[in-house]
Amino acid sequence: MPDDEYTAVLARAAHHAREWLNSVSERPIAAAVTADEVAAALGTHLGADGRDPAVVVDELAEAIEPGLTAMSSPRFYGFVIGGIHPAALAADWLVSAWDQNTGSRIPTPGTAAVEELAARWLLDLFGLPATSGVGFVTGGTTANLSCLLAARGEVLRRAGWDVERDGLAGGPRVRFLAGDAVHSSMVLAGRMAGLGVPRTVGADDEGRIDVGGLGAALADDAGPAIVALQAGDVHSGAFDDFASAVEVAHAAGAWVHVDGAFGLWASASPSLRHLVAGFEAADSWATDAHKTLNVPYDSGVAIVRDERAMSAALGAHAAYLPVPGAVAEPYDHTPELSRRARGVPVWAALRSLGRAGVADLVDGLVASARALADGLAAVPGLEVLNDVVFTQVCVAAEDDERTSALVRGLVDDGVVWASPSRWRGRGIVRFSVSNRGTDAAEAARTIDAVERVLGELPPAR
Ligand SMILES: *Cc1c(COP(=O)(O)O)cnc(C)c1O
Repeated sequence: MPDDEYTAVLARAAHHAREWLNSVSERPIAAAVTADEVAAALGTHLGADGRDPAVVVDELAEAIEPGLTAMSSPRFYGFVIGGIHPAALAADWLVSAWDQNTGSRIPTPGTAAVEELAARWLLDLFGLPATSGVGFVTGGTTANLSCLLAARGEVLRRAGWDVERDGLAGGPRVRFLAGDAVHSSMVLAGRMAGLGVPRTVGADDEGRIDVGGLGAALADDAGPAIVALQAGDVHSGAFDDFASAVEVAHAAGAWVHVDGAFGLWASASPSLRHLVAGFEAADSWATDAHKTLNVPYDSGVAIVRDERAMSAALGAHAAYLPVPGAVAEPYDHTPELSRRARGVPVWAALRSLGRAGVADLVDGLVASARALADGLAAVPGLEVLNDVVFTQVCVAAEDDERTSALVRGLVDDGVVWASPSRWRGRGIVRFSVSNRGTDAAEAARTIDAVERVLGELPPAR
């Protein structure tokens, strides 16, 4: 065993990681160079001769750094991006060092055990059935896809069609329905699952599904159906009325899936759990650990009430794979066969936070979002458009032109980064509070920076 083959290179990696992490909260947030400039700095030609691994790591870190965005800054509010919990980061490094192909409990009992614990803890925190199948997938999109594949198999099985054996072609059509504010990830998952784009049934001003419209659409036709609901609208943060929507969908025999990429975490907080009331009656749920839980990429979680439907859709069978025993194998719950043990960093984050720590994390994000909304609403010329029930805040200036000037001004200023978007027919700046470091002080600093940048723009016409 070469005892020093990894020593120097890991020391360099740890050094660069520390330098980066220590710079993240104070450096200008946006990347300073383009992708082409990073490629040019690295040299685009693969030479014939190799290089020492430690030199490669130094070269990489130096060339890439100006091309990195400080996404884990406590004042980065773009998209929906979590920060990095230290226990999860360190566990993630170990997962790479251990290099376990976590497909089966038999050759990789260590990582399988840790993932099973993480799965059990997640179900417990969310208040979902303890017998549900849980898959550790790459993100919310693959979690949505995994759940839709289980849903598709089950609703077709009930209609007398075996999609796992015979495929979709020639079988009954599966209706796929969602509210008007359905996330693009859900649409993509539907396309990948062969369900096509969902038929939208309406939504209210905050993006909550129109339950009357859902009932009418389901009554329009018969046959297998899947309904996608939403915990946490990406603009407003709003939650569907699960109790009513699940009842209407189940009365029509539909499978109900909940896309809760960031919003499912409301269920882990006693003070926010009312937002998801009734969601536990659904059939499947998707969430991310790389958003609200602040686990590094990539980390999503697919949950299916009927574990057998999940295994039927996703399980693999081959002569060299162990015959599944009483407990499902990890490869029965994810679309991949070979994969890293991405449930291990989830376990580490949960272990480090504890039940109260998870609730405090979610409560803290929501408190900061409210503080941000209050502060921004008080800035002359700014308006908060959504009802801030969770972590999302949509802000607009007097007109679209000024709003986009504000977004650009913030990027150039470097202290705050938020996403441009359109909502309810208006250009907006969207703040998603998803980082464990975004406390009251960072929210106050954000409000100051926005007010200052707005003040530096040419006066409104
Ligand atoms: C982020 C998000 C997704 C997609 O998750 P990824 O991890 O980016 O694949 C799906 N739905 C909602 C509501 C999201 O916010």
